[in-house]
Amino acid sequence: MGRPCTVCSHPQRTEIEKLRLGGVRSGLVAAQFGVSKKALQRHVPHIQRRLELEEKAQAATQPATLLDSVRQLQARTLNLLDTLEARRGRPHHILAAIREVRANFELLARMVGELQDKAAVQVNILKMPETVTLVTRLRDALTPYPEAKNAVLKVLDE
Ligand SMILES: [Zn+2]
Repeated sequence: MGRPCTVCSHPQRTEIEKLRLGGVRSGLVAAQFGVSKKALQRHVPHIQRRLELEEKAQAATQPATLLDSVRQLQARTLNLLDTLEARRGRPHHILAAIREVRANFELLARMVGELQDKAAVQVNILKMPETVTLVTRLRDALTPYPEAKNAVLKVLDE
């Protein structure tokens, strides 16, 4: 315990790992890089640990990308909703799309961190200009389907 790993601190660590992971015998690698076979063995869990750390570090830089993904998803969902409306899709399909749009809005709002609690999320989402526009459009689009229209308005009121 506590002994520094000669492979971790080796200047050619990456090369060593590549060869070992590529199946080159530890005896050969040890001889080539001047480390002991024991050190190579001890080093194995270090590779795993470092990969985990790298993954975590990467995950920490992900939010921007993730946010973009959700935004893209929302754009696609809204497009789908447009298509459904334009083609006079079935009310329950339109409703399903609306539910997804709403879920995306909630997710986005939470991710952006604008909002602290769930109650605030709902209120602010409904005040977002995109939502207001959307609701207006939906009302118009669903006028021929009074039942669906009522259902939508109910969903939005929840
Ligand atoms: Zn190591």
